[in-house]
Amino acid sequence: MKVKKGDKVLIISGKDKGRTGKIIKSLLKNGTILVEGINLKKKHVKAKKQGEKGQVIATPSPLNISNIKIICPKCGKATRIAYNNSVAIMAIICKKCKSQI
Ligand SMILES: [Zn+2]
Repeated sequence: MKVKKGDKVLIISGKDKGRTGKIIKSLLKNGTILVEGINLKKKHVKAKKQGEKGQVIATPSPLNISNIKIICPKCGKATRIAYNNSVAIMAIICKKCKSQI
């Protein structure tokens, strides 16, 4: 199993430390993920047509996987992610209840 879209995570460092969110995209090759509402960066979008106003939109930017903990759906506790580099996927085993997520 690997970190996937929809998994709940806890942020353990950075400006969003202590917050939780759902994974909206996992970029496994880079070891980063996008989490809903976390690590937002403001982006300026220029007006496409005349008469339209430019906008500022906040989009999540990638977080390194080492800055998050996955929340175990079985016991509800945050746990660290164990990597399985040999097969290029991340195996997650809950350190609390020992179940594989
Ligand atoms: Zn657990």
